Order: sequence, then C-alpha cells, then structure tokens
Amino acid sequence: MTHIDTLLHARWIIPVSEGDPCLLDHSIAIHEDRILRIMPTETAKSTYKASVEQAYTQHALIPGLINAHTHAAMSLFRGLSDDIALMDWLQNHIWPAESKWVNEDFVQCGTELAIAEMLRSGTTCFNDMYFFPDITARVAKSAGIRACVGLIVIDFPTVWASNAEEYIEKGIAVHDNFRGDELITTTFAPHAPYTVSDKPLEKIRSFAHEMDIPITMHIHETAHEVAQAVEKTGIRPLHRLNQLGLVNPSLLAVHMTQIEQDEIDMLASSGCHVVHCPESNLKLASGFCPVAELHKRGINLALGTDGAASNNDLDMLGEMRSAALLAKGVAADPTALPATAALRMATINGAKALGIDDKVGTLETGKHADIVAINMNSIETTPVYDPVSHLVYSCGRDQITDVWIAGRHVMKNRVLTGLDETDIRRQAQQWSRKIGSEE
Ligand SMILES: [Zn+2]
Repeated sequence: MTHIDTLLHARWIIPVSEGDPCLLDHSIAIHEDRILRIMPTETAKSTYKASVEQAYTQHALIPGLINAHTHAAMSLFRGLSDDIALMDWLQNHIWPAESKWVNEDFVQCGTELAIAEMLRSGTTCFNDMYFFPDITARVAKSAGIRACVGLIVIDFPTVWASNAEEYIEKGIAVHDNFRGDELITTTFAPHAPYTVSDKPLEKIRSFAHEMDIPITMHIHETAHEVAQAVEKTGIRPLHRLNQLGLVNPSLLAVHMTQIEQDEIDMLASSGCHVVHCPESNLKLASGFCPVAELHKRGINLALGTDGAASNNDLDMLGEMRSAALLAKGVAADPTALPATAALRMATINGAKALGIDDKVGTLETGKHADIVAINMNSIETTPVYDPVSHLVYSCGRDQITDVWIAGRHVMKNRVLTGLDETDIRRQAQQWSRKIGSEE
C-alpha cells in the first residue's frame, strides 16, 4: 500500500479531458498539491492508504471552475445601480462611485467578499481586472484561491495611478512581487480600446511579450463603442488593436458582442481567445457574442461572470447555463453549444486562455488538484441520467459541497476553511452603509 495525503471516492468523476467520458465509481488519489491518479474505486482501495479518505457517494467531482473575467472588488457595488445602459452605468454611476470610494480597504474587503462567493460557487481560479492588483493578489493568496491578477492600465488618473506610464510601472512591480508564486499569475489588463491610447498599448504589447504574460481587455462590448471609435478614428477597435500587434495568442478579448465576418477570420487565424460574459451582456443589453459561430471556427472560448455590479453574481454554474441557452437562441439552433462544450468553456478553455492549462482545467494525473464536489442527491437534480447535463442545466450552486485548490480543502461541507464568512459579511455591510447613505 502506498501512503498518500488524500483519497476521494465518487459516484461520478467528470475529468473534462479530451475524449474522457464521465467515470462511474472512480477515485482520485491526491498527494501534496497534485493529482496522482484517477482509477476505479476498487483499485484505489487496494492500492493506497490515505491520511484523509472521503466517500462522495451521491456526488460528481469536476475540475475547479475558472472565471475568466471579473472585477472582484466590485462586489461591494452589487445592486447599487441596475437597469441602465453601459455608458450611462459607467460614466454616471460606476466611475463616480469608484472615484469616491475605492481605496486599499475597499479592494481588500470587496475582494474577500467576492472570493468567498466564488469558492462557495465552485470557482477555484479567477482572472481579475481592478485597481490595487497587489491587494487582490495578497488576498487571493491568503484565501488559497488561484488568481490571475490583471495589471490594470487606463489613460485617466485614479487612486491607483495617475497616468498610463505609472499604471504600467506599478503593474510590473506587482508582477515581480508574485513571480513564481504557486497560486498567483498576472495579465496586463488595459481596460478597453476607448480608455487606453496607442502609445501605452504598444508598451503593454512589448512588456507582455518580454514578461511572457497574457493581455486581457474589454473589446467590442457594445455597438455604441464600435460606432464611436469608427467616428473618431475611422477604424473598428479590433482592427486598430491588430495594427498595434495585439491580436495574437496572448490576447483575451472580453465580450466581443459586435463581430463582422472579417473579424471572425482575424480571431480564428490569430489564435486569440474570446471571453464570453453572457449575463453581463444581457443585463446591460450590450449585444450577443456569436458563440456558436466562433465555436465552429475553432476559436478558444472561455467564460466569465464580469463584476458583481453588472451581473449581479459570481456564479459560474449559472453562467454556463446562460451561455448554453443564449448560444442556442442567438444561433436559432438547439444543437449549438451543448452542455459538454459549456463545461469546457468554464474549465479547460479558461485555463488555455490564461496559459495555465498545463496545471489546471481538467482532472488528470500530474495536474494540480483543483476539484469541486457537487451533490446530485436533491429533488432538483433527480433523476440523474447524465450528470454533465445536470451541471449545466439543473444544478444550483448551493449543491456544491466541497472545494479543493492545489490539494487544500478550502471548502468543507459548505464551510470555508480559510475565510471568516461572518467577518466578511460584517465588513461588507459596514461599507454598504457608507456607500448607500450617500447615493
Ligand atoms: Zn468587465
């Protein structure tokens, strides 16, 4: 018998690896931070002796969900300003609220709140874009969640930096501080084509190349954005970014609700990634990303919730369902984006976009043990013919019972082991009293 750290037995294991079906009555052997082996439970019991052995007899084990685009700290603005258009929302509500309230404590508190919600929803990795990325990284690391921290760049001054130069400098310092960290990676995160000018974008391109990190950017979020750019510059934003050398396999193009045929060709041939945020796009009526068509063209599609101020939750199970349903509606094709494809968007495709697919995104030998257990034994998911179908179309996030990240048990029977939920709620309520009293 080989002695290992953890042995998880499960009714179903859904590895999401290429060609791997749903495995029945299998087990995952974990040692230190890695998956050692996945095998039939009978074999596991006669091969391994584990310090912790747990049977999940009514559960499905899946890879941790990867939220490929969010603004974690904005959870403190959840429900502050709803039911208005993107530009009105940004210019008259969110940006003024940010300039008034965002500081280090706001980012610390909002990020903790977001991480608690994400862990309780089965998210084990998030790609963030916000001010004070140093604090986001520190909070994520101490909570034990994997994070790809966006080094935000925007032309105008905020409490984080006063000009594009300074954003870039401070971002590089954050990258250097967390270089080689097990849980924290970085991306450059220029906000959008309409808020970052050519010069800083060129610098970002060359630094990102040198530092070997991706670039995340909101692109073609609305028709208004594209029309305004054409009026001002005579060229659509994606074409401008292409001229600047940014449309390549390092780019995560977030939203992309407005795409012409030649732009689909450009996305496909460049190898860049598209991050679909269906619920934020629906709520702000931003438009529809033609997911089924992009999928057919072999473009890597990841999935994000966007921030809790425009969604208004960070629920990746819900996001998968919205993505699968919306893709069918938009394509007028019920076979568009089947459940397995939606699950890939929320796992391995996100890992590919962030350049961490060698570590996470599937359940396979040698990968880091980022695992989520979902209890299928509830009225809402009975009977079970196909657990993948349930994951996408029926399960609620309250059915998620346990979460492991790099082999650490970060949620045990719905209790977070590294975060104080009562304290997080108390601090968030204090912030909401301040913000709400002046709105
Ligand atoms: Zn966003």
